Amino acid sequence: MTKNDRNHVEEVYVVGFIPCYQVPNLPEALDPFLQPLLQDISRGFIDGFKVFSYPREIEVEGYQTGEEETVCVLLLCWTADHPGQCECGKFLNQGKSGCRRCKMVGKLLENSTNTHVYYGENRYHFRYPWEERSIESSVEDMFDIDRETRVSICKAMSSTKGFTGTSILHIYLYPLYGFDILKHLGFASSAEIAHMQSEKGPQTRRQFLLGPVSKVKSLSLNERVKIADTLDISAREVPAVVFVSSKASLSDVGYQGSVVYKGENVIADINGHETVLLICNFLSIRCEGTERATLLTVAPSYPPLTTEDGSQASDFWSGFIKVKAEPGSEQLLFPLDCVKRKVILYNYDDGVNSVVDYQRQARQLPYTIIFPVYIECGDMLSIQGEHLHDIWFGHVQSIDHCQRTVDVFFFVESSRHKNLYVRETQGRHGRNTVSWHSVIGIASGEWISHTQWRKKE
Ligand SMILES: [Zn+2]
Repeated sequence: MTKNDRNHVEEVYVVGFIPCYQVPNLPEALDPFLQPLLQDISRGFIDGFKVFSYPREIEVEGYQTGEEETVCVLLLCWTADHPGQCECGKFLNQGKSGCRRCKMVGKLLENSTNTHVYYGENRYHFRYPWEERSIESSVEDMFDIDRETRVSICKAMSSTKGFTGTSILHIYLYPLYGFDILKHLGFASSAEIAHMQSEKGPQTRRQFLLGPVSKVKSLSLNERVKIADTLDISAREVPAVVFVSSKASLSDVGYQGSVVYKGENVIADINGHETVLLICNFLSIRCEGTERATLLTVAPSYPPLTTEDGSQASDFWSGFIKVKAEPGSEQLLFPLDCVKRKVILYNYDDGVNSVVDYQRQARQLPYTIIFPVYIECGDMLSIQGEHLHDIWFGHVQSIDHCQRTVDVFFFVESSRHKNLYVRETQGRHGRNTVSWHSVIGIASGEWISHTQWRKKE
């Protein structure tokens, strides 16, 4: 079955229940509701279900299907939002050991009344990642927490171990086929995304206007001529009265469309050019002899800002273009489906706005990303020189965590051997202090002797 088919509502059963005060509290709250499902899954895995009507075109190599077949089931993935996922899996959903994938430990701020837990020292943990959680090493902790009857001790154990007990999914499914609550409870998603997945289908929604049908406007001759031009018809065919609205739902932008309002800024494709506009109104025009109304947008555009060489001015880092702060006086008229996406205008400079185009297509970054590194004595560092391709190699002698600097001996390429590096200057005087900001990474290579280092090509 294709993904589109199997995620369709016809294939996905949606069951709901209304919790009442008689059900147990957390962490067992969901267990009574999950138990019947898990019993069914277990039975379906061990004995299977007898089916009489099934698609006859199913073929299994080397097997002759009969009237009645046994179908076995197994649960492969389980999804919910983060709190839901934690309730089903009996994970701690926040706090000191809040990650269900690794054994990350959070810390409180020193000398603070704030009780938030922070996961810091990212330089260090990027170099030395936290240990991953594995189900084999976690079962004991989960059982211990289950067995503990003293509430405060149980809470303290949960906080350090990251579990609130043993998940019913683990109890039933792990012994059967190794269902691993640490891996097979998929990524947390919102109810919205789960809903979207189950309703995914080829049907696309049409765009439409929102608002009362009573809001109409009579058109001046001038406006009718303009509309006729846009639609490529004669002015006589344009009705004298049209529906007006300040809200429209676009079809393909976002999940199930997105609503654009009067006063919002958008980018529209106008004659092949991406233009930044201020939404003024939407019109619905039903011309004679046409079945469906035509939806038009009325919006003035922001004049783009150009650089000295005549190209579109944009921000080097983000790629966001710049436009004048005030839109032009001319109202543009264009079909609603030209509207591509919303943007936010941000005051950049006097009379200039930066167009925050957060839904733009991903583009190549104009720079390489540098991860801040955790430096240790003995590391050979790549250090950024004055010019872009000017990379120096520094052998770390000491680290100053307060000043955030390192002391290094610089190494330069030997004049006799390519890729072989030796001390730039001998003696104590060769020691240099370098800011952490200039360190772009740990260089890869190997020591040939105490004084010679070979760079890995
Ligand atoms: Zn983690």
